[in-house]
Amino acid sequence: MTPHEQKLIPAAAAFRKALLAWFARHQRPLPWRTEVSAYRTVVSELMCQQTQIATALPYFERWVARWPDFQSLARAQEADVLAAWAGLGYYTRARNLLALAQQVAGRPEPRTAAAWQAFKGVGPYTAAAIASIAFHEPVAVVDGNVVRVLARIGGVKEKFKDTTTAAKSFTPLANALVDPKRPGDHNQAMMELGATVCRKASPDCAHCPVARWCAVGGRAEAAQLPRFVTKVRKTAAVTRALVQYRGKILVRRNPRAARRLAGMAELPELATLRGAEAGELALVRRRSIGSVTYEETLREVVATAAAARTWSQDAELEWVAVTELDTVALTGPHLRWVREWLSPSDRPVRGKRP
Ligand code: SF4
Repeated sequence: MTPHEQKLIPAAAAFRKALLAWFARHQRPLPWRTEVSAYRTVVSELMCQQTQIATALPYFERWVARWPDFQSLARAQEADVLAAWAGLGYYTRARNLLALAQQVAGRPEPRTAAAWQAFKGVGPYTAAAIASIAFHEPVAVVDGNVVRVLARIGGVKEKFKDTTTAAKSFTPLANALVDPKRPGDHNQAMMELGATVCRKASPDCAHCPVARWCAVGGRAEAAQLPRFVTKVRKTAAVTRALVQYRGKILVRRNPRAARRLAGMAELPELATLRGAEAGELALVRRRSIGSVTYEETLREVVATAAAARTWSQDAELEWVAVTELDTVALTGPHLRWVREWLSPSDRPVRGKRP
């Protein structure tokens, strides 16, 4: 720990008090906060792992209305679960959630972070969130928001490989600070502080409840912390085909054994469609998966009856009615792309990156 962090720990009680008082006044009224249960905490944590809260909110509401507890989710079909997740991305989370429900349903719920971590897809951060919020175990949650707050409070200039490495480094300090009586509220307050006040590019130090303990509060260098090693990114160019035929759209279903997006549907790559003649439509999007940035170009393909018959014989290709797009587990970026194309008012400008 830095000398600053060593000074902070004796002030932990005052730090917690100021943080919780701020949280009581400023927390966002999220549905998993107004009604707390292990199930709702698990669903919200998995949904928000790689997705912004604002995006996850309507998904969460629909999800808990349809599957209100572990028992009902455990009985769901995987295809329905994936379709309900469509648009959130990182579909492994949906499969892990279904598998977790099948293991937990009908048994006593695990109560500790260590026990939750035994489930696939539940890492140290998620396990600590579930155990502290739903079962009041005094363990700290250290996500990217908490890393940012603690790096700034401590004035830590070390360069970390990634957020996971940084989180490990800050876990002892976070555990020393966590409120033993209200660990769930404390953890949510730390995350909320990072999300709404100690923001990445523009920390609002003037309204920060813990500014008096912060090594860099109010200074320009606050926005530069935490520091990470710059990653080398690769770029790949992919041309996708938007094929429409008799009110249906052609999608490719990734095999269940695929390393990426297993079981999910995507717009097919143009190069994989034999006999396809691409029209003029050319929309460009960028999306990043892991360390690769995909430059995706969408081209419109007019299917002839002969081509449509040929593609219908490909086991991985599927024709989906435009009206049923929501029921297919089409990857989020492609679902949005198709919806925009079908709705002229939302249509992106040709060749322009949104
Ligand atoms: Fe973040 Fe500023 Fe608060 Fe420090 S004072 S924790 S930099 S918002």
